[in-house]
Amino acid sequence: ETSTGIYHSLLPLPTHLPLHSSAVLSLPSYLFSLPLPSLSHPCFIDASTGTTLTFTSLRHLVSLAASRLLSNHGLKPHDVVLLVAPNSLYFPVVSLAILSIGAILSPANPLLTRSEFESQITDCSPSLIITTKSLSSKMSNLIPNPLLFIEDFISDLLTNPKPTVQAPLKLPYECIKTSDPAVLMYSSGTTGKSKGVICTHANLISMTHVLSHVWGGTGTGTGNGAGTDTGTRDVYACVLPLFHMFGFSVFVMGVLATGATSVIVPDRFTPDRLMEAVRKYSVTRVPVVPPMVVMMTRKGHVAGGGGIGSLKEVISSGAPLAREHMERFALCFPGVRLSQCYGLTETSGPVTLCDGVEVLLHTSIGRVIPTMEAKIMDISSGESLAPNNIGELCLRGPSVMQGYLRNKEATSLAIDKDGWLSTGDLCYIDSHGCVYVVDRIKELIKYKAYQVAPAELEEILSSHQEIQDVAVTSHPDEEAGEIPMACVVRKSGSKIKEIDIIAFMRDKVAPYKKIRKVIFLDSIPRSPSGKILRWHLRSRISNLNKID
Ligand code: AMP
Repeated sequence: ETSTGIYHSLLPLPTHLPLHSSAVLSLPSYLFSLPLPSLSHPCFIDASTGTTLTFTSLRHLVSLAASRLLSNHGLKPHDVVLLVAPNSLYFPVVSLAILSIGAILSPANPLLTRSEFESQITDCSPSLIITTKSLSSKMSNLIPNPLLFIEDFISDLLTNPKPTVQAPLKLPYECIKTSDPAVLMYSSGTTGKSKGVICTHANLISMTHVLSHVWGGTGTGTGNGAGTDTGTRDVYACVLPLFHMFGFSVFVMGVLATGATSVIVPDRFTPDRLMEAVRKYSVTRVPVVPPMVVMMTRKGHVAGGGGIGSLKEVISSGAPLAREHMERFALCFPGVRLSQCYGLTETSGPVTLCDGVEVLLHTSIGRVIPTMEAKIMDISSGESLAPNNIGELCLRGPSVMQGYLRNKEATSLAIDKDGWLSTGDLCYIDSHGCVYVVDRIKELIKYKAYQVAPAELEEILSSHQEIQDVAVTSHPDEEAGEIPMACVVRKSGSKIKEIDIIAFMRDKVAPYKKIRKVIFLDSIPRSPSGKILRWHLRSRISNLNKID
């Protein structure tokens, strides 16, 4: 900490990168300029089929895919591509191909409903939509944009491996500057509905650089994974969605840059599936979200099943992890370190890490990464606070997004004139620089670490004929962390019940956004301008619970 209340990392800064705004560098050209571990070293393995992509084949496929996108699909730099696909070996291939030609990758959760896709499409106007055949019905005829099936695209690459135009990975690809937008993911930030978060190549490269610097030296791998050459580097299991910034930054950026292997465990997460992959591929580290920790500790016996001695660390992020679950984990997985990291879509990935905090059970989210600065801001005075005082965590540095797409007002609310991003998280930092999350002051609900924006659900609910007023907030839940709860004021004479409201919402939103609880109130506390007073609402609800 400095005298001004600004915290920096004690870890040495990685070597300087040329990231000034006119520098010519893209995330893929940066990644592929790093020293490759060995030509045959696997970077991605599909756990369900055993199919392996080596670093050489990844580079080749990315280059080939990029040349096809340019020549056969007419993509140009700055075009937006919507990618809607489950995790697979080809998610990183397609993503890096899009970025390598200077187009902008906008991934979306395949669970979204047709109308939710429509909102994202209307907002980001993609020139091309890449998706799977089974998901395409949710997107067909929505807009005139062409659809490309990822299955056809990949099988064409594999059967016709000749580039149609000169491979754009010839370094450097002149037209991409580090200040150009690279990915466009959606987040509601501290208030309102989902907004397009613009992260530039510079944002992503700086994050990749730090992650590979911090994680690159860990090398805890045992290297005897099912006869594959995973060397002595770490082997990561990928159970996080790659369309979300946590999964993307870890697997398509950081881990790839360390030269480690990622084992993609497709389909729905189950502890058994994960442990099978750990045994088969000698997995050393697994990034997860808190509900996965909860599931893993419920199935405590899998740890006793043996054969998971390679597993050194489980890293949780995306939502708060309760101390109780950490303790249960320590009992079920003795010797496996459970650490946390913390980040936002708006910070291009994790900005605090537990590296250097060598204890098995630590409730801190870690220390701020080299390159970023942190401070704790008093909510009423805006002053930065001394250690151990609670306030809003603010972050500054090269990984903070460029801004929200076509939304200057939301951008300037989020990032102040000095470059500080308000996280909407109530935290404190101890005298060792370890950050602790105390509460969330922004509107956001995190169901199984997925973002649910109350404003979006409130808009739909208020269209119901029998609802006079409504506010949506979170309700604690053991399994999901939080569930969306509607606080409803009925119109006079209405007898609408909880199940009617739950049913009304069911088909209108993605499953993770569904209203799962309803309470009825006489009024919703609002400011004179009509804004929901969420603090008042929360205290009213907790008073109700006390009376119960
Ligand atoms: P997203 O943009 O979906 O990654 O959401 C970012 C938000 O997730 C943060 O502002 C936090 O509220 C929450 N979050 C992320 N990591 C953690 C963590 N380790 N502990 C508590 N909350 C977290």
